[in-house]
Amino acid sequence: MVFVRTTPPRPVDVTAVLPELAPLARPAIRLHPRPGSPSAGESSVGGPLLWPAEEPWPHCEASHLHVDSGFRQSPADVRLMRRRQARWHRDHDGRGGMTPEEEAIKERNAARLTERLDADPPPADCPVPMLPVAQLYLRDIPLLQPPGQADLLQVLWCPYDHDPHHKPATALFWRSAAEVVDILATPPEPYEVNDDGYLPEPCVLAPEAITEYPNSLDLSPQMLLMVQDWSRWQAAGADVDSSEHADCPRDFYDVHLADAPGWKVGGWPPWGRTDPNPDTALSVMCRWSRC
Ligand SMILES: [Zn+2]
Repeated sequence: MVFVRTTPPRPVDVTAVLPELAPLARPAIRLHPRPGSPSAGESSVGGPLLWPAEEPWPHCEASHLHVDSGFRQSPADVRLMRRRQARWHRDHDGRGGMTPEEEAIKERNAARLTERLDADPPPADCPVPMLPVAQLYLRDIPLLQPPGQADLLQVLWCPYDHDPHHKPATALFWRSAAEVVDILATPPEPYEVNDDGYLPEPCVLAPEAITEYPNSLDLSPQMLLMVQDWSRWQAAGADVDSSEHADCPRDFYDVHLADAPGWKVGGWPPWGRTDPNPDTALSVMCRWSRC
C-alpha cells in the first residue's frame, strides 16, 4: 500500500436531510486498484496469488463452446495489445505498426501457443485454468469476516461466459497465509479469454473505508418518495444547486450520496448496467463481508 486514494467529502450530510436513511448506512471499503506489480504477499487485483505449491490450481470443467463472443484472445495477446495501447497513449502516436520489440513478443507468444497445442489437450477438451481476480488480506480489508483462522480471501474466475447470465464463473477460497510455505510460482493460464476485460491487469490497492447508502433502486417506495421530495432538501438547508437538482433530487442522491463506483467490498450494490435482479458478482461482493 504505497499510495492513498480519498473519496472527496460528500457535498451534503444525507442523514441530516433524510434521517430515515441512517439505519441503512453500510460500511464499505473501496479498493482503488491501480496498475502495478503486486507480490503474492500483498492484496491485489489481478496479481499473483499466495497459492500453495502442493495444492491443485482451480480449473473450470464447464463446456465453453456454445457461446463464442467472437472476441476470444489469448491472455498473452491481450497483454501485448495493452502494451501497444499504452505506447500509443504515451507517445501521442497514431496506431502505427509494431515496434521490433513488440514483433518479437508476438512471435514468442505464437511459438509458445504452438508448443502448448502440441503438448496439451486442445482448448475444447481442456478444463480451463481459472484466472486470479483479487486477493484480499484481512489486515487490509478488516470488513472481511473469514472463517476460523483464515486471513486471506482469494477470488478467481473462468474467463468464459457461463449460463445463465453470460458471466465468468467465480470461485472463492479462504486460507491462512501463515500456512502457505511454498508458493506456486507459475500457475497455469487459460488458452484464451472470452473478452479482453476478463483478464484483470495486475494492480496494487489503496483501500479506503467509506459509508454507503442504498442506490435509489434499492429504496422502498416510501423512502424513494422522500428522496424525490425537493422540499425536504430545502427544509434541511442543504447546499444543493436548485437550478440543477430541483427537478430530480433522486439523481443527485444517486450520483453524490448513495453508493460508490468501482471495486469495493461491502456496502450497497452499485446498480448501473441493470436494474436490481439476482446478480452473482454483486452477491459475491456482499458475501465477502457478510453485509
Ligand atoms: Zn468456465
